[in-house]
Amino acid sequence: MQIGVLALQGAFIEHEQMLARLGVSCFEIRQLADLENSLDGLIIPGGESTVQGKLLRELGLFEPLKQLIDGGLPVFGTCAGLLLLAAKIENDDRLYFASMNISAVRNAYGRQLGSFFAEAEFAGEGKIPMTFIRAPYIASTFGETEVLATVEGKTVAAREGNMLVTAFHPELNESTAVHRYFIEMVRRAAR
Ligand code: GLN
Repeated sequence: MQIGVLALQGAFIEHEQMLARLGVSCFEIRQLADLENSLDGLIIPGGESTVQGKLLRELGLFEPLKQLIDGGLPVFGTCAGLLLLAAKIENDDRLYFASMNISAVRNAYGRQLGSFFAEAEFAGEGKIPMTFIRAPYIASTFGETEVLATVEGKTVAAREGNMLVTAFHPELNESTAVHRYFIEMVRRAAR
């Protein structure tokens, strides 16, 4: 199994470290030639969705990655990655891959609560630590999308088919639960 980690901007190294801890090999996607590697799954890290979106287009990565995602390649988007995957962003006109049936609110927690920590149930795996950094939340889900975690009544993790998103940054905490969940998705998709 090999995971491609989008490495244009943001917190990609922490995802690579998490995968290393789980014994899963990965490579960085920085340019089109990197897509010559075979990949079983894709991680889109947190950072700045506008910057990542712009770089994806400039580097010619946007269309090939969209095709892979829409073709069913397992993908895990954290924070900005969630925004890149959302079919709708309620407070922004920009849209990116727009592949997943969620409607997100960008920078949803306001200035004072820009960053915070919570612990909540994730996908029946028990309570896990969740670090939010100028995070979005998911205002609504539609289609086949399943809610995997909520914090104070807001959806902060969801899955639709081979797509997984979290508003928080699981790569910044000790718990490997979310990455293990994604790796299991990738395993099942590969069968
Ligand atoms: N606020 C960022 C955005 O709009 C997301 C923050 C993050 O990824 N930690 O893209």
